[in-house]
Amino acid sequence: MYQDVLKKDGEKCARCGGTIKGYGHNGSPLINGRVCDKCNVDVVAFRMHMINIKEALKDWEEKNR
Ligand SMILES: [Zn+2]
Repeated sequence: MYQDVLKKDGEKCARCGGTIKGYGHNGSPLINGRVCDKCNVDVVAFRMHMINIKEALKDWEEKNR
């Protein structure tokens, strides 16, 4: 596990191309690959956005049944 972290250190961010410090973050579903701390903020925001869309769709379907 520790070796895994070492291997990942210095990897390039799949979104901004910057060097990822530490293990990085899973960019899915916004980006296919690993992203840095900074880009992960957008990934998290995108995930929240997707959840909101799903909730809105569910609401709409219930109202228009
Ligand atoms: Zn980045």
